[in-house]
Amino acid sequence: MRFGSHYTPFGYSHLQPVSVFSTYASDEELIGTQHIICVQANGDIYEYWWERNGVWNFSNLSEKVGGIKLLGPAFGYSHPDRTQHVIGRGQDGSIYELWWRIGGGWRKNNLSERLGGIKFASDPIGYVHTDESQHIIGRLNNGKIQEFYWKRNQGWRKNNLSDDIGGLQIIGRPHGYSHPDGTQHVIARDRQGNIHELWWKRNLGWKHNNLSNRLGGVRFVSDPIGYVHTDESQHIIGRLSNGKIQEFYWKRNQGWRKNNLSDDVNGLQIIGRPYGYSHPDGTQHVIARDQEGDVHELWWKRNRGWKHNNLSNRLEGEKFTTDPVGYVHTDQSQHIVGKLKNGNGRVQEFYWRRNIGWSSNNISDSITPGVRVLGDCKGYKGAITKGIWRALDILDDTITDLKLRNCIRDRLTDPNVLVKCSDCPDLGHNSELVILSINSKHIHICINRINEILLDARFGIAEVVLHEFAHSCGWEHNGGQGVPFNDGESI
Ligand SMILES: [Zn+2]
Repeated sequence: MRFGSHYTPFGYSHLQPVSVFSTYASDEELIGTQHIICVQANGDIYEYWWERNGVWNFSNLSEKVGGIKLLGPAFGYSHPDRTQHVIGRGQDGSIYELWWRIGGGWRKNNLSERLGGIKFASDPIGYVHTDESQHIIGRLNNGKIQEFYWKRNQGWRKNNLSDDIGGLQIIGRPHGYSHPDGTQHVIARDRQGNIHELWWKRNLGWKHNNLSNRLGGVRFVSDPIGYVHTDESQHIIGRLSNGKIQEFYWKRNQGWRKNNLSDDVNGLQIIGRPYGYSHPDGTQHVIARDQEGDVHELWWKRNRGWKHNNLSNRLEGEKFTTDPVGYVHTDQSQHIVGKLKNGNGRVQEFYWRRNIGWSSNNISDSITPGVRVLGDCKGYKGAITKGIWRALDILDDTITDLKLRNCIRDRLTDPNVLVKCSDCPDLGHNSELVILSINSKHIHICINRINEILLDARFGIAEVVLHEFAHSCGWEHNGGQGVPFNDGESI
C-alpha cells in the first residue's frame, strides 16, 4: 500500500489508515475487538480499537513502547495464540514488531537488529500461516523480496525469497497470504508491471510464477492485493493503466484465469490501489476510490456475478483521500476504513450489517485527536469532541500568533491534556465557558448553557475550545492574537 506525503507539519492532520484487523481469539478479553492501525505524519503509530460495548478507543503505540517512529504505513494482524502484532519500518529502514499479549501490554522487537541488520526499502506486510508460523514480507534496496518468519520454539529467522527462485527483482510493496491447503503465497509487481506469484509448499520450498506472462501480458500499475475466498479460490486485485480494476483468480484444477472487474460493472475507473476481501457468507468484495474520492464497492455472489455500489453516493457524499481498506469482523459485519477527504485527517468508517446495509461513522469524531474528555459531559461529549476537531480545523485561520497557535495545537493533540466539563456556577462574569486553571493540563469547559451555544449561529464550541486552550497557553483577556471572545465578556 502506498500513501502520499508522510512529512507534513501537523501530526494530527495526517493519520494514515493503513491496516485493519479484527481480532477473533476466543479469550474474553480479546474476542470481538477491532483494531485500526494508522501512522501519523510524525511517525507515531496510532491504534484505534473497538470494544464490544460499541466504543472506539485510542492509544499511541509509539509512546507505549518507548518512542518508535515509523517511515510509512504499518500492518497489523492477530495470532491464534491470542497475541496481536503490528509491524512497520523505522526511519532507518529497520523492521520493528510491536506485539501485545493479555496481561503483558505492548512490547517491541527490532527484528532487523536480530537478523543481521537487514533493512527494508518497502513497508512490510505480515500474515499468519496455517501452522501458526508468522511471516513478514518486504522489498530490499536491491529489489529482492525478503522474508522474516517466526516459528514457535525457534523465534525469528530470515529468508531471501528472490534468491530461492533465481533473483526476481520487484518494485512497490509486495503482499502475502496463507491458503488453507497449507501453501503460502507472496505476490509482487516488477518494473514492467508484471505480476509475480511466489508460492511455498512443505518439502517443495518456494516456486515462481509470472502470472502476467501466463495471462496474456496483463500488467498492473498498482501494487497487487491477494485474498483467499471461502471456496478456497485465490484472488489477486490491481489497477490497470486505463484505471480499470483487474482480477487474476485461481481455482483448484483450473489454475489461474483473468477477469476485468470494471468491464463487468460498466467500466468503472479508479485511482490508487484497490483492495479485496472475502466474506464468510460466500460473497467477495473489492473496494476502491475514484478520482473524486468516491468509494466504490464491487461485490460478487455466486450465480449473480459482480455488482457495483457507489458507497459515497449512498452515504451523504463522504469521500476518501486514502485508498480504502476493508475487513470482516467476527460478527460478520463489514468495515471499510479510510481518511476522510477535506476532513483534517479524520478516520472514516463505512460499515455494513446484515438486514441493515451500509452506514457511516466517523471514528475520529467519536474519540478526539489527542486530548481526553472526561466523563460524558451530561450527554454533550460528542458535541465537545466535534468542537475540538473543528478547533483544529479553524486554528490556522483564527489564531494569528504562531507561538500561540503551536501551543494550542500541541495541547489539542496531547493525550495527557484532560478536558473536564463543569457547571461553573460561581464564576464572576456572564460566561458559561470559562477557564479555571491557567498553564495546567486540565482544561475546564463549562456546560451549564452549552445547549444555547449549540443553537447560536454566531459561535460554536470550537471557538470556545480555542478560547479556553489559549488561556491554558498563558493568553489573557484582551490579549488579541485572533482568540475568539477577546474581552472574555462577549458570551
Ligand atoms: Zn476567558
